Amino acid sequence: MPGLLEFDGDCLIVLRHSLLANSPQEGCALLLGDKQPSHFSKEETVWTIKLIWPCCNIWEQGFSTLVQSSNDLNTFHTRQASRQTRFAIDPREQLLAQKWGRKNNLKIIGSAHSHPYGDAIPSAVDRSWSFSQGLMVIADGSGRLRGWWMRKDKNLDPLELALVRNERSP
Ligand SMILES: [Zn+2]
Repeated sequence: MPGLLEFDGDCLIVLRHSLLANSPQEGCALLLGDKQPSHFSKEETVWTIKLIWPCCNIWEQGFSTLVQSSNDLNTFHTRQASRQTRFAIDPREQLLAQKWGRKNNLKIIGSAHSHPYGDAIPSAVDRSWSFSQGLMVIADGSGRLRGWWMRKDKNLDPLELALVRNERSP
């Protein structure tokens, strides 16, 4: 788990824009970057997001049965499932990002998506996806971002977000 999650350069702005651009549907993206020991504490790791890989939301109606059959999500049945409340990233997109990252010394360190009609907090559906294990960044309808660490037991830890300005930025 990262002690701190940093956004390098314009990554925060790019992420916010690419997620909001998909509104009213949920937007999604992969986060590429690296993990370095913190300058302040050896036990702590700083994860830095260096590239945003925007993805298409490919969620389709059939996907929900997978989620619903594997988990007790009765409270969510009342809300109509659509791309406005669900997202899915194409696994092929993930492979492409992975390949590109390997050439450029970056790893996929997490994913991001938006909740156009909700808070920037992982939903029960988000928790049920194995994909969402690990680092997850969520934007609410106004583009406010929050970072989360999803544990294997599906419990959540909020992450501290920080902005890093590189030399290219004014
Ligand atoms: Zn979500």
